[in-house]
Amino acid sequence: MSLQAQLESLKKETLEKISATDDLAQLNQIRVETLGKKGPITEVLRGMKDLSPEERPIVGGFANEIRDLLTAEIENRKVSLEAVALNNALAKETLDVTLPGTKVYHGTRHVLTQIMEEIEDIFIGMGYQVVEGFEVESDHYNFERMNLPKDHPARDMQDTFYISDEILIRTHTSPVQARTMEKHDFSKGALRMISPGKVFRRDTDDATHSHQFHQIEGLVIDKNITMGDLKGTLEVMMKKMFGEERNIRLRPSYFPFTEPSVEVDVSCFKCGGEGCNVCKHTGWIEILGAGMVHPNVLEMSGIDPEVYTGFAFGLGPDRVAMLRYGVNDIRNFYQNDLRFLSQFKGE
Ligand SMILES: [Zn+2]
Repeated sequence: MSLQAQLESLKKETLEKISATDDLAQLNQIRVETLGKKGPITEVLRGMKDLSPEERPIVGGFANEIRDLLTAEIENRKVSLEAVALNNALAKETLDVTLPGTKVYHGTRHVLTQIMEEIEDIFIGMGYQVVEGFEVESDHYNFERMNLPKDHPARDMQDTFYISDEILIRTHTSPVQARTMEKHDFSKGALRMISPGKVFRRDTDDATHSHQFHQIEGLVIDKNITMGDLKGTLEVMMKKMFGEERNIRLRPSYFPFTEPSVEVDVSCFKCGGEGCNVCKHTGWIEILGAGMVHPNVLEMSGIDPEVYTGFAFGLGPDRVAMLRYGVNDIRNFYQNDLRFLSQFKGE
């Protein structure tokens, strides 16, 4: 077969392959096989040295013509295959903007965290510092420094979980006050603090008791602090929490770490004092315990009770949340049921 005939048949064969393929990789393979350095056209051009001088330009011209033609055909095929590929990709990746979106679930802060932060804000506004402490405490800071020596009967009300004879889980946030009092430098001014946090008692869980609950205790120590300061402070807190029309009343009570001690009631925010199921038809809601810091407590923290006096109070965010939202079982706060918790969206 003459070289021209070989080239002619190569051209026909290659054009068929080009139009038959619809795959870009395969097309590239055809290009390499036909036009590459080891391909048949290069082979033909290499064999030209054996031709006569007359034949050479004719065969060479023909070979070049075929090479240009095939190069152009491959390029055309490539452009059209790429267009098809692009259209397929576009068709596959169509975004339907009318489809409803997937709702992103927004968590909220726990209702008790919300209440505690609200109370913290009130006291930060009055110049108090917020101090957090250990949940695992020593008997010394949890009881003894709160005027509850080992044989004190009031310890019965605060039985807890013991890790050893001397280490326990705190029953109140009071040990934070003891630790802060002993460090406070009174030459720099009064001590005003609140301590929020989890506390633990050996209680049988029921609708109003939980072995774990929360407290926020407050403490102010300075010269000339009186019961009037305590009453005024609590009044401000209750008005901010339950409305400007609220009043408070103090009733005598007993705590080992305060003397005198009081129970504090707030006028009912639901009925305004008329009497309803929230206030058990008394018009008043028992909300917290308070009192003047016992001189023994001051003395044990290295503070001279002849020079300094102070007041302290403690309330339960769990109880505040129950009252405000009409929750009748404290255990709801700790069961992590989203149907319950997601009702409290906060602000
Ligand atoms: Zn009421």
